[in-house]
Amino acid sequence: MTCDFLALALPGVQKLSPYVPGKPVDELARELGLDPAGIVKLASNENPLGPSAKALEAIRAELDELTRYPDGNGFSLKTALAARYGVESTQVTLGNGSNDILDLVARAYLAPGLNAVFSQYAFAVYPISTQAVGAEGRAVPARDYGHDLDAMLAAIDANTRVVFLANPNNPTGTWFGPAALEAFLAKVPESVLVVLDEAYIEYAEGDELPDGLDYLARYPNLLVSRTFSKAYGLAALRVGYAISSAQIADVLNRVRQPFNVNSLALAAASAALNDADYLARSRQLNDAGMAQLETGLRELGLSWIASKGNFIAVDFGRDTAAINQALLREGVIVRPVAGYGMPNFLRVSIGLAEENARFLEALSKVLRS
Ligand SMILES: *Cc1c(COP(=O)(O)O)cnc(C)c1O
Repeated sequence: MTCDFLALALPGVQKLSPYVPGKPVDELARELGLDPAGIVKLASNENPLGPSAKALEAIRAELDELTRYPDGNGFSLKTALAARYGVESTQVTLGNGSNDILDLVARAYLAPGLNAVFSQYAFAVYPISTQAVGAEGRAVPARDYGHDLDAMLAAIDANTRVVFLANPNNPTGTWFGPAALEAFLAKVPESVLVVLDEAYIEYAEGDELPDGLDYLARYPNLLVSRTFSKAYGLAALRVGYAISSAQIADVLNRVRQPFNVNSLALAAASAALNDADYLARSRQLNDAGMAQLETGLRELGLSWIASKGNFIAVDFGRDTAAINQALLREGVIVRPVAGYGMPNFLRVSIGLAEENARFLEALSKVLRS
């Protein structure tokens, strides 16, 4: 008799469904015999600009050192982040993507018998990281697809150790303002760690969203996580970070892998952080692309959830599986979000102007057929 190694896994792990990433271009090309060069991928909220030239240069300068382990303490990047944001480098935790940060929080603070609170339609990694360590994930019903912060407060109990907030949220693009955040933080028990995931904040700066870092001094139970994957254009390298109290950072650093961020990622991130021009272009391109998509969707008579991210969730008012398949046949990859309980929506990342146009054309064709 062979053992059932699924049954032997932790109960939370048995119930997990793996994270479903956007379909890779090469996979679609193989499946449908299409030319990869003609495929448009607007499925993973990637930066359509291509990497920063400064980041590429920094990577090249590191290549000769590939036999060496990276700096396990990430000294240069932490110093650069601390200087940029006016914090101490002891407050910074580096992650292999900000996914890693979310995982570190779960591993350090959650266990069977404890729970984490997050919103319905929130980023899929919150329930995955929570369940993987055997803790209970409490998905609080959303309000208008966004976080219902009052209901989230009400869901907190004596066994809650972590609340995950995404602002703006993925896949909905919804957001909350400074007053809502402040009211929430003021009421959360001091012993509950609030993880404020700001993966898209650079797209929304100065745009009615709070800057989580402004609240750190007053709320020592707050951790702000950010990433180089989106506006900084380095998704492939996997580098993100958290800024928190030095004590929380110390705890996270105890559970992280010694060399969780590789040397190319460290070098590229430091360079990208100082490439203000690239960031400004990312933001401009996103603003223009969002306007282009909204105009095109309006012309098609479609509605969508207003978004502050680099993506938009389009409401088709009916199941989108067939529409998605038809778009794939047109060589356009977007993201179905049925796994998030949103079967009537497709999430579309903002691309280059010509990519957005290709998507709108393909969609128009698909809807007419
Ligand atoms: C993309 C994303 C992340 C960041 O992922 P990385 O691991 O940094 O690439 C984190 N949170 C949300 C909500 C995201 O959409």
